[in-house]
Amino acid sequence: MVYVTPAGGLARSYVISEAEGLVVVDVGSIGTAEDVAIFIKRLPGRSLQDVKCIVATHFHIDHIGGIGRLLKKCLPDTVVLFQFLVDHYLKRQRTISRLKNWLTGFLPAAVFSTRYVRKFAHFRFESFAGIPLPILEKSLNLPYPQDRIRFINTEPSVPCKLNFGGWEILATPGHTEDSLSLYNAASGELICGDLILNFKKNGTGYLNPFCWNREAVENSYQNLIQKVDAKTIYPGHGEIINNGSNALLKVRTFH
Ligand SMILES: [Zn+2]
Repeated sequence: MVYVTPAGGLARSYVISEAEGLVVVDVGSIGTAEDVAIFIKRLPGRSLQDVKCIVATHFHIDHIGGIGRLLKKCLPDTVVLFQFLVDHYLKRQRTISRLKNWLTGFLPAAVFSTRYVRKFAHFRFESFAGIPLPILEKSLNLPYPQDRIRFINTEPSVPCKLNFGGWEILATPGHTEDSLSLYNAASGELICGDLILNFKKNGTGYLNPFCWNREAVENSYQNLIQKVDAKTIYPGHGEIINNGSNALLKVRTFH
């Protein structure tokens, strides 16, 4: 099952709890890392020692900017999981995706997201890594050693097993090239990163126009519709979409 951590920071953080332990999805700032740590310590029968890995839905600062801070509080064998393209970014073989629609996509989402910022530390990031601006895209220093990082080879057509409570990882490129989603077929829970956003309580969500490739966003969305039956969608920013069976079909598309 997915726990929604109290809104703190621009992007949402989720904690997946299964018999095997915990997986944390996205930790976007130093303040968020502190909040997630407190949240986990308060979970009945759980502790930070139960965190198996921290998964990033994509390599953007508002989703990775606090991972190291949380990782430090976990056991030495807790790892960070990135999509395999991040390996190429870190080796400087490829640059992170350039994004489009700053005015119509980024600006409204950024304004809405600041609603969830509760303290100064929610704006503090542990490095400049993951800022999609040409001038900063080469800042890739992560505050944890390489041996704490694992890369996952996702394919749009083949869901990849996380080996954790029936969870699968699907490539959902579009917002960025390295975007991924996590899905649990038994519970119908879908954590979709910034592919879909929702800033309305009881809202149905919308495809995010702030993206690297609009066509890829649509393809990933169509691919998800075919592969998964999401009952609850956990977006990268905003409010949970709780729409029962086929929640994806109610998401507002570009057309
Ligand atoms: Zn984001």
